[in-house]
Order: sequence, then C-alpha cells, then structure tokens
Amino acid sequence: MKYVYGPVPSRRLGKSLGIDPIPSKTCNFQCIYCQLGKTNNFTNIRKNYFPKKEILTEIEKAIKLNENKFDYITFVGSGEPTLYKDLKDLIIRAKELSEKPVCVITNGSLLYDKEVQNALISSDVVLPSLDAWDENSFIRINRPHPSISFNNLIQGFIDFRKKFMGKFWIEVMLMKGINDTKEELLKIKEKLELIKPDRIDINVPIRPPVEKWVKIPDKSILSILNEIFVDYTNINFPEVGKFNIYSSDFEKEVLSILERHPMRQDQIIETFSSSNFDEDKIISQLKKLKSQKKIIDTLYNKQIFWKLNLNKDKN
Ligand code: SF4
Repeated sequence: MKYVYGPVPSRRLGKSLGIDPIPSKTCNFQCIYCQLGKTNNFTNIRKNYFPKKEILTEIEKAIKLNENKFDYITFVGSGEPTLYKDLKDLIIRAKELSEKPVCVITNGSLLYDKEVQNALISSDVVLPSLDAWDENSFIRINRPHPSISFNNLIQGFIDFRKKFMGKFWIEVMLMKGINDTKEELLKIKEKLELIKPDRIDINVPIRPPVEKWVKIPDKSILSILNEIFVDYTNINFPEVGKFNIYSSDFEKEVLSILERHPMRQDQIIETFSSSNFDEDKIISQLKKLKSQKKIIDTLYNKQIFWKLNLNKDKN
C-alpha cells in the first residue's frame, strides 16, 4: 500500500496502523533531530498532496484486512500530517470504519489554525511535540517555516487544548547541550503548565538524527527530570519500547517499518523473535537484505541501526 502501513509497534501506542497522507519529508519544520532525513519540501502550504479518494480506498482496505490487529489508527507523516488539507475527512472516515481510537502525531505548528483545529477535534488523541521554550530555541531546534512563530505555536496549543475533548499528549525531545539543563527544562515546564496536557512523554533521540551532532543527554538528566517534575503523575521518562509482534513475512514487515524510520537491531530482534525465528535467523535475514542492497546498517551511540537503502540504485 502507498499510504497505509503496519500495524507497527509504537512506544506510545501499542500496535498502530499508520496512515501517511504526506509526501516524504514535506514539512514546515526542519528539526535537528528528525529521524526521516532532511526536509526536502519545506512548506507551510496546506493542500491535498495525494488524491483523497486513493487514500480513502486504502484506509478502507487496510482496516478490513487488519481488523483486531491494531490498537490505534495513527495519522503520522513522512512529513507533517496537518499539511493535508482534507485531513478531517480522512479522520472521520477512519472513525466510521473502526471502533479503535484515531490519533494524530503532529509537530503542533498549525494548532492555532481554525481549520486544523476543526480537523483534529474529530480525533481521539493528539500527540504534538514541544522541544523549545522561546523563539530563539524554537528556531535553533525545530528550524520552522518563517511564517510560524513560537508565540503562535504556544497559543495554538493552549486554545486547542481547551476545546479538545480527547487526549492531548505532548512529547518533549531532549538533546545533550541543546535543551537539557535545569534552567531550560524549567522554562519548558512553564509552557507545559500553560498548556495542561493530559500526558507528557520525555524522549531522547534514540534513532539516528539528521544532524550528526545531536546527541542523547547524559543519564544524569533523569535526576534533574525527577527533581523538576516531582509533583507530576502524568509524565513518562525515556524507556525502551516493548514490541511484541511476529510476522511470518519478515522481509515485507521489516521493510515496511524501516520505510518509516530507522530501527535499532535489538528492537528488530525483540519485535520479530519467536520460538521458530530466533536472533541468529533475524540477523542473517538482515544481512541478506543488506547484501541485496535493500537496507543498510549504521553505528550510532554504540548501537547498530538498520535503515532503508535510499541510494540502492547508486550503490
Ligand atoms: S521531526 Fe517531524 S516535524 Fe520535525 S522535521 Fe521531522 S517530520 Fe518535520
């Protein structure tokens, strides 16, 4: 399928059936930690990047095929999903077809836009990101489109939160030397207190970021987080996701996941291992796909990551 993938394991959403209505790396941000590579279509224009009918047909087919095999239907882009103009129609159709909650993973940049608010209000969970505390840090970390200001971003979060009856879970990406000091975290906390999300997920860049100088904070960050958020009961600190799916068609499944994002070797093993498909078999399958130039491995933060070989024709 072109627009629907999975179900794939997700740290926050269990098994998620993903819908991606946006062309690869079409985004109004250029985050320094982006795991999808460089933003090659840097735009803040909302339009139907692909024909709505085609996407709806795939959504219908995928939901029927995967009934009872997923926990959430997730709109998540190879770019920013709220840039899809008729997102509301896609969400409504997904809700008509399944009883599972529909969620939208977004950078939150357009939450101030009434049309985007109106689209997301139909969903069950909205998961925006907030990594900065003022205009300068916003520009340094998220490198937004010039038409997006930090004040608008925060106001959009506050306004939408008040209207939205579903769950509002904010993710904060912490990076070493970028936004991980106590002072910076206290400023981010001030913004979070204005927004009042239902849940906060603190994350670190565990997958290879677009900028190689972006690093995971030192472990000492955990004691700072504990101190700052001591009175919070709705916060999750970084942890390794638990994945538990098995597929008989390893190649198809692993490529469909790596198409969306790189994955650590140990996560792939955890995801796919079963009584008759052990670690050695998984590694040998990965090596086979590498020899076929379909995927490549890379060492990051002392861990092996596998990702799709986007330059296979040139290799
Ligand atoms: S992390 Fe998300 S919002 Fe940031 S550049 Fe990548 S796709 Fe866009």
